[in-house]
Amino acid sequence: MATVGTDTVALSAQQQLVRESIRDICSEFDDEYWREKDRANEYPTEFVTKLGEHGWLGVLIPEEYGGAGMGTAEVVVMMEELAASGGGFAAAQAIHGGIYNSVPIVRYGSEELKERLLPGVADGDVAIQSLGLTEPNAGSDSTSIETFAEKDGEEYVINGQKIWISRVDASDYLLLVARTTPKSSVDKRTKGISMFLVDVQEALDDGTLTMNAIPKSASNAVHAYELWFDDLCVPADSLVGERGNGFYQLLDGLNEERLVIAAECLGLGELAIQKGVDYANERTVFDRPIGKNQAIQHPLAKAYAEVQAAKQLTYNAANVVDEETGTAVGAQANMAKYLAAEAAFAAADAAVQTHGGFGVAREYDVERYFREARLTRLVPITQELALNYVGENVLGLPRSY
Ligand SMILES: Cc1cc2nc3c(=O)[nH]c(=O)nc-3n(C[C@H](O)[C@H](O)[C@H](O)COP(=O)(O)OP(=O)(O)OC[C@H]3O[C@@H](n4cnc5c(N)ncnc54)[C@H](O)[C@@H]3O)c2cc1C
Repeated sequence: MATVGTDTVALSAQQQLVRESIRDICSEFDDEYWREKDRANEYPTEFVTKLGEHGWLGVLIPEEYGGAGMGTAEVVVMMEELAASGGGFAAAQAIHGGIYNSVPIVRYGSEELKERLLPGVADGDVAIQSLGLTEPNAGSDSTSIETFAEKDGEEYVINGQKIWISRVDASDYLLLVARTTPKSSVDKRTKGISMFLVDVQEALDDGTLTMNAIPKSASNAVHAYELWFDDLCVPADSLVGERGNGFYQLLDGLNEERLVIAAECLGLGELAIQKGVDYANERTVFDRPIGKNQAIQHPLAKAYAEVQAAKQLTYNAANVVDEETGTAVGAQANMAKYLAAEAAFAAADAAVQTHGGFGVAREYDVERYFREARLTRLVPITQELALNYVGENVLGLPRSY
């Protein structure tokens, strides 16, 4: 658990409670647990089950559907703490989708769908851990997706391909983003996109969904897949929200989610700094602790300052996000994600350097934080695309796409 320095952000009583409860749960999962999950490429089922038992998977679900009815201000604390506890980015990512994929259902789903699914999600019994958006031919240009859902009587028939889709192995349902009108036939490229809920096991069983895990080097406890849909049929009422408006409905709420990603980066950065500081104090070379050397001290201190700066921005925005909307929050969310990922990377790099040769030894964990910190600069949005938002929407620079 990260305890470096004095916390520079004042927490509300509710946020304080969230922090204590999450710390308490996380204390049951030590460094060895996370090291082993990463080494074995194993999803942290016990950890996720424990969070579900305590109701944390329903943190954003309204109380009337059995959830905790909390908001962004609480979730940033929760996810920062999960990452800082020792699990790093992987711990937060293990449940990130499980929390956020039900948001479109809460906001745009039919009453029947909400009553059928949300109480189970809140209890941890129903997992909607996967969001299928990215495609090989579209990448960051999400409106160029080609996966198509064709209406056929009381069903939609889905064909196409997705890539990098996380946690399909831990999901009962996949929230799938597909075109229902080709890009060439809409007046605005953001139109003609819809969201569907796909029963993963059913689709795998009848062979209309096939999936391959993508071998990767970071966040190994959380798996990502390439997916192929071959005449996958889903009932018409699997449509979430309004047909053709799925892109807008998916994006609505994205700023809040981006702040939470920033918080996950902050937790990882705090964890790395704590590990670096502990080692700098205990390792003696030339008859003195290596922490006495400014070459060791300064990168850690600089990373700490950067994490704290990003934290101010993240928490300030998270505390007002429910009242404000539009470009102001979008700018803060994108800047927070950008700064927090850079700070996490600097922190993990400093922690590795502080450890000398042991910086790459698995048993000291910092190499794992470093791999994860590198990943935070790529997902769920690349640093470049986050900066594009600021350049275009805040500074009034021309669009690059
Ligand atoms: C581990 C992992 C888990 C993931 N999980 C999911 C998931 O669950 N669901 C899902 O839908 N997706 C998921 N993704 C996909 C992820 O969101 C994308 O990888 C990411 O958005 C970048 O897209 P891309 O990889 O296609 O890069 P590309 O779009 O091909 O970009 C390549 C490079 O070009 C840069 N670039 C492109 N266009 C511009 C521009 N206009 N200006 C400046 N730079 C530009 C990018 O910043 C990047 O550096 C995951 C990815 C990873 C690695």
